[in-house]
Amino acid sequence: MTIQAPGSGPASQTIVVVGGGIAGMTAAVEAAETGQDVILLEKGPSLGGRVAALYRYFPKLCHPGCGLEINYQRIRASRRIRVMTLCEVTRVAGGRGAFSIGVRRHPRHVNEKCTACGDCARVCETTVANPFNYGLDRVNAARLPHEHAFPMRYVVSAEAIAAGEGQKLREACRHGAIEADEREQNFELSAGAIVWATGWQPYDARKIDVYRYGHSPDIITNVQMERLAAPDGPTKGQIIRPSNGEAARKVAMVQCAGSRDTNHLPYCSRICCLASLKHAAYVREQSADAQVDIYYIDLRAHDKLEAFYNKLRADPQVRFIKSKPAHIRFADDGRPVLYGERTVGREIYAEAYDLVVLATGMQPVVPDGFAPGPEVELDEYGFLVATADGGGICPAGVASAPLDVSMSVQSATAAALKAVQAVRGA
Ligand SMILES: Cc1cc2nc3c(=O)[nH]c(=O)nc-3n(C[C@H](O)[C@H](O)[C@H](O)COP(=O)(O)OP(=O)(O)OC[C@H]3O[C@@H](n4cnc5c(N)ncnc54)[C@H](O)[C@@H]3O)c2cc1C
Repeated sequence: MTIQAPGSGPASQTIVVVGGGIAGMTAAVEAAETGQDVILLEKGPSLGGRVAALYRYFPKLCHPGCGLEINYQRIRASRRIRVMTLCEVTRVAGGRGAFSIGVRRHPRHVNEKCTACGDCARVCETTVANPFNYGLDRVNAARLPHEHAFPMRYVVSAEAIAAGEGQKLREACRHGAIEADEREQNFELSAGAIVWATGWQPYDARKIDVYRYGHSPDIITNVQMERLAAPDGPTKGQIIRPSNGEAARKVAMVQCAGSRDTNHLPYCSRICCLASLKHAAYVREQSADAQVDIYYIDLRAHDKLEAFYNKLRADPQVRFIKSKPAHIRFADDGRPVLYGERTVGREIYAEAYDLVVLATGMQPVVPDGFAPGPEVELDEYGFLVATADGGGICPAGVASAPLDVSMSVQSATAAALKAVQAVRGA
């Protein structure tokens, strides 16, 4: 994607928000509530981004549905926001006042007549790896993206159509909602300003050879831990050893798995320590005798979140071990064993666990072929930075830096105001 010099067409007043996570939704409602027309583009089948897949939020451990639902209500109530799901931005040209945005619309195979009754799922036999649960289980190819999806509309994966199930699904639907023949479409949108909120992806744990991710189901990542603990997750909220279904009573968290490491992600993602403290709380809530060991280089609990750290620190069943494990191997019974040396005391350890959670960092999502231009730049780690002269592309949320939810919301509000100023010529 190349950002070109400003075009000469008529100035557009519309703001396009790219990415329907917490940052994109916030920017959309904030801009719309000042009176601007907003198009919110999300490449997935529902809004909410990665926050929708968290079990709970630190520091209060409330359900993310609370924060998301407020935004859904504001979007529903607004006549100025047009939400377009399964729409992926692939290209941007032009400049402030006259952007041209290339969009690829992926087929949902279900139209707006869907009532989410589930009749299609009852006859569909194809299953696919469940993207919402980060591949921990398989799911019916005709499904709601997740329990609290917005919009509350089914999606049918291409695999079911390829397996020849289209006609059967069409016959099962009383509402005429199945569109088995729907094809991918490409189209252009015009905008005066863009809020760029494409968020993050988890760092690929397979790249950290020494931690053997993918060699045992009992070595998972922090995003998978969120789904393991969630009542609507693959185990209905039971934190178990995926290899045998037994309760995980001895759990290790490996901090900075790939982070602050020049071979992987050289930066700190800011939230991983707090996420692991939260995961320790999940484990301890489920079992009075469970033990959690957190292996760390140094722990970072920013701002007011120090109190959350101190709360976990006071739990004798949660041990903090200052050490970066050198590698993971497997015991004769198949359990993962962490090997390393404690930084304090220099003691060598080889400790077996029921479950190991790799605290991988957040990597910015940048579309293929993105090239910086006069409107926006990339920093050395790939996060988007607005240019000093305040062009019409306004980065928000984790697309701009590793941020937690409250910081993402703040940055989205700021980006929305900059976008409003850009279209109003302020
Ligand atoms: C394990 C873990 C636990 C966490 N727990 C907490 C917590 O408890 N509390 C907290 O405050 N923070 C937590 N965080 C951080 C939190 O997840 C982020 O702050 C939040 O996801 C940022 O939201 P976002 O909208 O910027 O990005 P995202 O949630 O990534 O949303 C971006 C959206 O953009 C869409 N998109 C991407 N590219 C395109 C494109 N080209 N076209 C259209 N759409 C596109 C994506 O599909 C996605 O829906 C945690 C992070 C991790 C890794």
